[in-house]
Amino acid sequence: MNEIAQTTEQTQVTEPKIETPSTARSIHFDIFTLFPEMFTGPLSESIIRRARERSLLSVALHNIRDYTTDRHHVCDDTPYGGGGGMVMKPDPIFRAVETALTRPAGWTLAPEDAYVNLPPWDAETPAPLPADTPIILMTPQGRRLTQSVVAELSQYRRLALICGRYEGVDERVRTQLVTDEISLGDYVLSGGELAAMVIIDAVTRLIPGALGYELSAHQDSHAPGLDGLLEGPQYTRPYAFRGEVAPDVLLSGHHANVERWRREQALLRTLARRPRLLDRINLSQKDQAFLRQHGWSPRGE
Ligand code: SAM
Repeated sequence: MNEIAQTTEQTQVTEPKIETPSTARSIHFDIFTLFPEMFTGPLSESIIRRARERSLLSVALHNIRDYTTDRHHVCDDTPYGGGGGMVMKPDPIFRAVETALTRPAGWTLAPEDAYVNLPPWDAETPAPLPADTPIILMTPQGRRLTQSVVAELSQYRRLALICGRYEGVDERVRTQLVTDEISLGDYVLSGGELAAMVIIDAVTRLIPGALGYELSAHQDSHAPGLDGLLEGPQYTRPYAFRGEVAPDVLLSGHHANVERWRREQALLRTLARRPRLLDRINLSQKDQAFLRQHGWSPRGE
């Protein structure tokens, strides 16, 4: 190992600001799904598990089927007008959401009360739902999930996510119950559960105290600390690997040079992979001059 490589420890010059749980706020998710077991793994590992243990995050899983009262607990039916597939019926979804959201965060139906001992609910009269809790339908027709949408969602204390299945949900869920619709992207999943897990994961990273190293979320790709750029390359030990060495500037201990190099690499990576992102970013004169040297010109020029 050369001399520069041995100075790696000295390059950790930024003091991270770590918020303790006592100063942090918490977020509660109410998830409405036909497959609550799907959430078990993602909620019990790594950052999400730790955030739950520190009471920064809580998740209540509501099985929509528990809110059916017919003998076969039917949650779907054939579409009016014919066609293939099944559509999720509105009443179990309305009943589940209106029952849970008119109760304190953390409330769930006791398993023995499913189907048989449901709290009273009026199918004809809308329940007074809390105005500060978005009710979000997972759907490929919704607005696209981006880091700024994640940041927006992270400002709420409580959020409800409805996971569709089959061919989707009855339109009355969309028109009368939900307040927002979010898509993971222009492709179709079999259900909204994976989309809901992605939202929980991305939002959790932004809860102060949920990550050990607070600056890392701020300086991720698309995050405000990077002005929405993609993050540049990162290296760790060993210094040399299969003939490729880590850039010496990162081992120099010169904080300003490290920062400048990282900024330039983020600019180059964004230019190479997502050049249109640069149109939306407030670039300094220095950034612009650097990008021009690498063949970039502002849109319209
Ligand atoms: N027929 C629906 C349509 O064309 O819009 C798609 C139904 S999809 C097979 C079943 C469920 O998966 C949806 O109700 C939704 O909850 C979820 N889903 C599918 N693709 C999704 C996406 N890109 N983003 C978020 N949720 C999605």
